[in-house]
Amino acid sequence: MHKEESMDDAAADAGEIIVLSVSHHLKRVLYLVITSVIVLGGTVIAIRELLAAPLELLYVLPIITIATALGVNTALHMHFTHDSFKSPRPFQYFLAVLGTFECQESLGQWVANHKRHHKHVDVKDLDPHTPYQFGDSKLTVFTIGLLWATIGWKFSRRITSKSYHKLEFLKDPVLFWIDRYFVAISYAGFAIPFIIGYLFGGYSLAIKSFAYYGALRVFVGYFITEFIIDGLCHSLGTEKFRTAGRAKNIAILSPLTFGGTLHHNHHAFPRALSTAVDKSDLDTMKPVNWVLMKCGLINAVQTVEAGALPLRRK
Ligand SMILES: [Zn+2]
Ligand SMILES: [Zn+2]
Repeated sequence: MHKEESMDDAAADAGEIIVLSVSHHLKRVLYLVITSVIVLGGTVIAIRELLAAPLELLYVLPIITIATALGVNTALHMHFTHDSFKSPRPFQYFLAVLGTFECQESLGQWVANHKRHHKHVDVKDLDPHTPYQFGDSKLTVFTIGLLWATIGWKFSRRITSKSYHKLEFLKDPVLFWIDRYFVAISYAGFAIPFIIGYLFGGYSLAIKSFAYYGALRVFVGYFITEFIIDGLCHSLGTEKFRTAGRAKNIAILSPLTFGGTLHHNHHAFPRALSTAVDKSDLDTMKPVNWVLMKCGLINAVQTVEAGALPLRRK
């Protein structure tokens, strides 16, 4: 999101965690605050619109959840972090922009954070957003721990070094540009639905379109990614494989989160594109991925070898 800068650049760049200078930390906090105001304000408008016309949820919800699943999970998570599939360059750029529209972090920063999460999963101070940051008791985890995993960690001055993780994809000039101009591109994710709405129906449709496909989309994406997956899925649910850390499956939420809450499966087999590894697992992103494969937009998809499952069972 911002050019990395530490109190002592030379020393800090040697490590995985850098300490932001006061000015860069303030810029980061300012982005979080301004974005929160836009997103929460727009979400209130979206809820009022949906209360007045509840049937609109039938098309709004699928559009925003699929856009979020593609932008965060398919793009930032499975392609750029875990290299779960190959893709033509133009589609990679499309995915990177879609992920940036979610306003979570810049492309490179999101990937660096997530690599650090897998490397140090649920280790206090090393995993950037573990709900066990302040202790292991249920009371701590389900109060301040979840608050930390959802939003608190975003305000830390200690952030993950992008250079430490040697993100090869940033050598591509377009992806580098998308990473560098994160703030402007992420706000374009609000402006584009507003402009399209204005062109088709004037000011009132512009506001509604921004509220649904800008603000509510980012709110739902953030809620699923940070509260449900990074928070709840490390606190409560079931486990069936031997993994480091405490990631869990919350199978009942899997259809709504496009497989995201089979998070324990993901930690057991992080490169597999689908989190459905057993027949009983339901990943609603599979049909979307099938369509993308048939269109030639994703290929060389990573899967779990059936023979690997018994070896990893608890
Ligand atoms: Zn996790
Ligand atoms: Zn992951």
